[in-house]
Amino acid sequence: MTVDAVPPPSGPQSERKDIFEKCWKFNRARALQEAGLYIYFETFGGREGCGPSEMMLGSRKILMFGSNDYLDLTWDPRVKEAAAAAIHKYGTGCSGSRLLNGTLPIHVQLEEELAEFMGKEAAIIFGTGFQANYAVIAALATEGELILCEHNLHASLVDGALRSSARTLRYRHNDMQHLERRLQQANGEGVLIVSESVFSMEGDIADLKAVTTLAKKYGARTYVDEAHGLGIFGPTGAGVAEEQGVLKDVDVVMGTFSKSLAAAGGFIAATEPIVHYLKHLSQPFVFSASVPPASVEAVRCALRILREEPERRHRLLRIADLIRRELSVLGFTVIDGNSPVVAVVIPDEIMLFQMAKELLEEGIYVNGVARPAATQNLLRISCTAAHTEAHAWQLIEVMERLAKRLNLELEKPAKAARLAL
Ligand code: PMP
Repeated sequence: MTVDAVPPPSGPQSERKDIFEKCWKFNRARALQEAGLYIYFETFGGREGCGPSEMMLGSRKILMFGSNDYLDLTWDPRVKEAAAAAIHKYGTGCSGSRLLNGTLPIHVQLEEELAEFMGKEAAIIFGTGFQANYAVIAALATEGELILCEHNLHASLVDGALRSSARTLRYRHNDMQHLERRLQQANGEGVLIVSESVFSMEGDIADLKAVTTLAKKYGARTYVDEAHGLGIFGPTGAGVAEEQGVLKDVDVVMGTFSKSLAAAGGFIAATEPIVHYLKHLSQPFVFSASVPPASVEAVRCALRILREEPERRHRLLRIADLIRRELSVLGFTVIDGNSPVVAVVIPDEIMLFQMAKELLEEGIYVNGVARPAATQNLLRISCTAAHTEAHAWQLIEVMERLAKRLNLELEKPAKAARLAL
């Protein structure tokens, strides 16, 4: 067998522009690596021998404040057992699309359980949450229609809108007057309003009551991504729409399995005709293999625990509140919100990477999110039900010490203290 020679990275060999030139020229990440400020692709070693919220990183145990395992179920013995039993019964994969050979009874059961949990007629599951958003937006909004996107949407929703042949307009973050002006700009087209319930990077919460009220007033439809709300908000844990009393008014509600539901995959729940349509006309659903049995059974088990153990979500929100309040008192700029995601604004990118790096040196992992992944540079702290008050204080004290050491400019404590009251 012969292997094609890879062209040298010195540039094109002929007059024709080389399509790979952009790869050779991409040096943003390498520059950070050379400066010792690169914070991505750490390789974690699992949780064996670790305490709650801890994880191995090389030979060190670190305190994990960067995981979306909100309800602390990915290592729950019941969930692991359910996944293992599914492998024994059904094997490790289905090797085919749901439409053809890839449907097992557990797929159908999970869809029924999710529909019932979300108070909708039907549900459909996808390989990832990203795929669900991308696939559903692209399939539901077509030529001659209008998608109104919240400004701070996750990439999967933006990419779904870009893939769709519908016209797309954005409305300003949490600005309902701007949304209304956008609705007035529709020329009789069918309109889909797309929002997250908890904004994934900032951790603030959408006013879904206002969104659904405006949708009704202007005859528009609504799509709400509950990736970070499901399992955490609402009387039964169904999400922010349930908490705000408008779940029945949201036309399409989306959730992911990769956060509170302890696995990987995603779903939407809606009326039966919408789900039926997607089952036949959503390309990524039709032309992709079904969710593996272990993930399906892990999710079914996590869903049962989520419903039976509401104290998990209550504990998690108390910890997040404590961290949000205390960091504000210290003068950090913390985005307002009431969710498990505590976002601290660090305007300077180098300072952001330094903070994340040094936190890790101190044994704490937090996500550093640089623009354009978020609208501002953020230290994104994710709380889970496994965190204790002692963990929260450990994080707060290390952040305070690092801010002093790195000369991070903080707001005046007096002002911050007033804010926190
Ligand atoms: N929506 C939002 C708001 C998200 O934050 C994410 C992932 N972080 C997704 C969708 C995609 O979910 P998944 O990881 O299941 O692909």
